[in-house]
Amino acid sequence: MADEIWKCRRCGEELTVKKVVFDYLNMNFSENLLRCPKCGRVMIPRDLAVGKMVEVETQLEEK
Ligand SMILES: [Zn+2]
Repeated sequence: MADEIWKCRRCGEELTVKKVVFDYLNMNFSENLLRCPKCGRVMIPRDLAVGKMVEVETQLEEK
């Protein structure tokens, strides 16, 4: 899976790994994600997106 090459669905450009900073509910967290160097589109794996949201919500509930 790690060797899999992802390409942008829109322009077919090979995606590159880039650190992306999220801003969610006044909380910032960064993650290395695949990004298209041509159009700037970021591809977020579904499991990562869901995992992060659950993680953030859990932290909020604990406060
Ligand atoms: Zn693209």
